[in-house]
Amino acid sequence: MTPAKVAIIGAGPVGCALALDLERCGVPVVLCTRRRPGVGVPAALPLRPIALSHASRLILERIGAWNVLEPTPIRAIHVSQAGAFGCTRIAAEDAGVPALGYVLDYDALSAALLELLGGRGIAIAEEPPSAALLVHAEGSAPEAGGKDYRQEALVTLVRTDPASSGTAYERFTREGPLALLPLDGRYAVVWAMAPDRAAELAGANERSFLAALGAAFGERAGAFVAADERFRIPLTLRVRASRTGVREAYVGNTAQMLHPVAGQGLNLGLRDAWDLARLLQDARDPGDAQLLARFAATRRLDAMATIRVTDLLAGAFTGDSVLHAAARSAAMTALDACSPARRFFARRMIFGPSAIP
Ligand SMILES: Cc1cc2nc3c(=O)[nH]c(=O)nc-3n(C[C@H](O)[C@H](O)[C@H](O)COP(=O)(O)OP(=O)(O)OC[C@H]3O[C@@H](n4cnc5c(N)ncnc54)[C@H](O)[C@@H]3O)c2cc1C
Repeated sequence: MTPAKVAIIGAGPVGCALALDLERCGVPVVLCTRRRPGVGVPAALPLRPIALSHASRLILERIGAWNVLEPTPIRAIHVSQAGAFGCTRIAAEDAGVPALGYVLDYDALSAALLELLGGRGIAIAEEPPSAALLVHAEGSAPEAGGKDYRQEALVTLVRTDPASSGTAYERFTREGPLALLPLDGRYAVVWAMAPDRAAELAGANERSFLAALGAAFGERAGAFVAADERFRIPLTLRVRASRTGVREAYVGNTAQMLHPVAGQGLNLGLRDAWDLARLLQDARDPGDAQLLARFAATRRLDAMATIRVTDLLAGAFTGDSVLHAAARSAAMTALDACSPARRFFARRMIFGPSAIP
């Protein structure tokens, strides 16, 4: 067996995507994981709905992973705020793509990618062997700087009448941003709010929870008729000061962990993996310091812009003041009225800075 040039720690979607991409480019790679292809994996969370952008679809297509997935397409996104006028609707046509995004469960995505790795004979190890480059894709960076949003995401699946179709909703409620993502005829709910309110709603009976959800969201997606078990995830921002070290690179959540408000974390992580693979595919020495500096420079603008937009959405939209609400209404009304702005906004969220005209 050719000795690995690149060792990747962590078989989350970003580590798996990078391993599949490098294998396809002929770069010897080993993936370090305690998970095994084909062996049941205990879910870290009962449900983590993931909205993949059209750009992520293109990446997954190129590494041969798209056709094994069965996601629910998002044809339109409706953005509104509770208790104030102004809303905007962004359709796939605004961005010139067949769908604005695709929703699937994190575990289904991870299991499919692991299965592909096994099928392609990519080496799996429990501990990282010596390699020219060690890529960190462990999915967390406890030592990285950041902030605690003092919010938790309340996550569950709900059934509506009528059943969900192709529209995703983002509503800025008094509690915090609330996303409804269409998933197999139901909606995955990701609702950010203060921890004590999240604890209250997680422990409430189904009827009380549905009533609270209906009061915050209204009836634009139909009537809420059933909810699964709810669970809570603390929300933090973590950003590593540097995404490279000596013969080391950091990708995905290990480089930056974002608030899930705009569904950007994994999309950004897949772009990290894609850009790193492009630099490594022809490299004689994957751990070369100049190459790693180029990787850091290539990722800087996309990462910083996505982190800022996400942080702004997470914070600015929870303000309760009349001025805040008026500014948000004006922004949404302007966006709704102006189709070039809608197109720019949609493409920026889908493709990263390459969408900047
Ligand atoms: C509620 C919620 C909703 C979200 N919604 C979206 C969304 O709609 N769109 C989006 O793009 N993003 C979303 N995200 C963010 C997304 O889940 C993450 O950005 C993404 O999972 C990061 O992938 P990753 O591979 O970097 O890390 P992870 O998914 O965390 O995977 C890392 C893997 O490495 C393993 N590992 C850790 N340490 C080691 C070790 N020492 N050795 C071996 N293996 C190790 C872990 O067990 C794990 O399997 C959401 C997040 C949350 C919490």
